[in-house]
Amino acid sequence: MLNDKPVIGISALLYEASRDYRITHSYAEVVTAVGGIPVLLPAALPPEDVEALLPGLDGLLIPGGADVDPLLYGEEPRRELGLTRRSNDDFEIHLLRAARAAHLPILCVCRGEQVLNVAFGGTLYQDLPSQVPESFRHQQTPTDRNDATHSLDLKPGSLLAEIYGCEQMAVNSFHHQAVRDPAPGFTVSARAKDGVVEAIENQAEGILGVQWHPEAMYLAHPEHSLLFRWLVSAASR
Ligand code: MN
Repeated sequence: MLNDKPVIGISALLYEASRDYRITHSYAEVVTAVGGIPVLLPAALPPEDVEALLPGLDGLLIPGGADVDPLLYGEEPRRELGLTRRSNDDFEIHLLRAARAAHLPILCVCRGEQVLNVAFGGTLYQDLPSQVPESFRHQQTPTDRNDATHSLDLKPGSLLAEIYGCEQMAVNSFHHQAVRDPAPGFTVSARAKDGVVEAIENQAEGILGVQWHPEAMYLAHPEHSLLFRWLVSAASR
């Protein structure tokens, strides 16, 4: 805690095309808006320095990004796989395992939810359109990122349903990968109407992953700040 505010680590991955370690600005803005202090953790950090930094963190946020290397869940790359970068995956997997071992509350968004699942032994669909042909259009680019484009059923009694206070809502959707088999210890807490997994959680340990982008929706749809309020509140305890 700093100034009585919880410190929320946010991973910042290397994207070679832009030569930046980067996150979208709205992750830092929403954490600030709900009373946390965002601290960016570049994927340049070696594992021993991640361990050394952890006692200074009160919570962890893993943001969106590119695809996850399928070798990490025992698959060869399909032709439809997008950009991957193994060093980014390895960094976030180490960070997630260390944060879980330290009992930090964890919120993971989009790619973050997928990395979370792989870090603890789950699998992904590499590409929904080719592997689940009956699925909806989940990759909505270039639709406005504020716009909800498909509905969700939230699992009654889940941490997610408790945070949002409802069992049905609509969300934005900018992904072509998705959770296939949830990791041991994690349960599915939301699905789209086509059955695609949209959220996983470990309720007892305070770990939550969502496939949509709440940080892109919270200004136009304030209920999506509830996820970040949960993270900051859990990180304060
Ligand atoms: Mn979706």
